[in-house]
Amino acid sequence: MLPAALSDCATGDTCPMRVYRWLGPFESGGSVRARLLKPNAAATAYVDSVVAGRRITPAQEEDGIPLDGDTDEDVAASALVQGGTGNPMWERPCNDNPGCQAGRPWIERTTQAPEGMIPQWEDYVIVRYKFDTDVDDVRKEAFRAAAADWRTHTCVGVIEDDAASNPYYLIGIYDTGSCWSNLGRPYSYGRINLGWCKNMNHKGSMIHELGHCLGLNHEQKRADAQAEYYGKGPALRMYWENVDSRWVSQYLPSEKTYIGSADDGGADPQIGHATYDYESIMHYYRQRSSNRTIANGYYFDAVPTSNNKLVGNRDHLSEGDIKQVLDAYRCRLRPEKL
Ligand SMILES: [Zn+2]
Repeated sequence: MLPAALSDCATGDTCPMRVYRWLGPFESGGSVRARLLKPNAAATAYVDSVVAGRRITPAQEEDGIPLDGDTDEDVAASALVQGGTGNPMWERPCNDNPGCQAGRPWIERTTQAPEGMIPQWEDYVIVRYKFDTDVDDVRKEAFRAAAADWRTHTCVGVIEDDAASNPYYLIGIYDTGSCWSNLGRPYSYGRINLGWCKNMNHKGSMIHELGHCLGLNHEQKRADAQAEYYGKGPALRMYWENVDSRWVSQYLPSEKTYIGSADDGGADPQIGHATYDYESIMHYYRQRSSNRTIANGYYFDAVPTSNNKLVGNRDHLSEGDIKQVLDAYRCRLRPEKL
């Protein structure tokens, strides 16, 4: 919601502010029309801070403390990169096990297009979820809209199924101050917490949490994010002095994080290294420290800095997000759709 010129208002105690008043009807529990919001992580947290009367940071809001990334799998993944496998991870195939992403891929497949999905893919991957007992209709509406975005753009049918048996995701309110998700396909059931993600304003964060459910890690945890990796990157210039110790792990590379993949056969959408995706819905925004001595307190700059404006997108799936899932789940168009 912040005009671009204002989001660059980095120093000083005062900033010009342009205020808009919405005169139309409110939708789904108090939102202006979703298509008018164009949310990014920083703007949504700003609005929520005004409402709450205290400062809420986007990362707190979206991933909470402890972080959604702090699953056992993710901690193990963080430790991986130093040792390395001897080959760049974009030579890894996108198979059913362990796959080419940080989280385990879902494996239930069907040639029948699930209800509401266009019959265009050779087969579909089914990811089942159900709502826990305490979830209100406003959250459900927003979450269903987030799930529909993944269905629209990929062959992954994220579907609501009250009768789902293992593996599945349970969608509930487990901590009202944050939103988080487990990572990838669980052995029994995984969970997404919709605590702070309470209405359509947070649909982008719900898409983000569903990304974790599908196995996507935070984009800035790619091996080529903050250091060079087999001749690629770094994509970010880190100012480690500014990074709060609680957040360091979210900027450390995890070699399991998707970075491209081997030739998986058919019309493979991605062979080899994938371009770093600043616009990814899985990328963190530019967090800041209150100590503004170095680099105005920012945790990082994009390389080049002209890409700073792309990070923190919580409006839409980026082309890179879509391509990653098409690749990881081996989505192939039916011959007549090519
Ligand atoms: Zn996250």
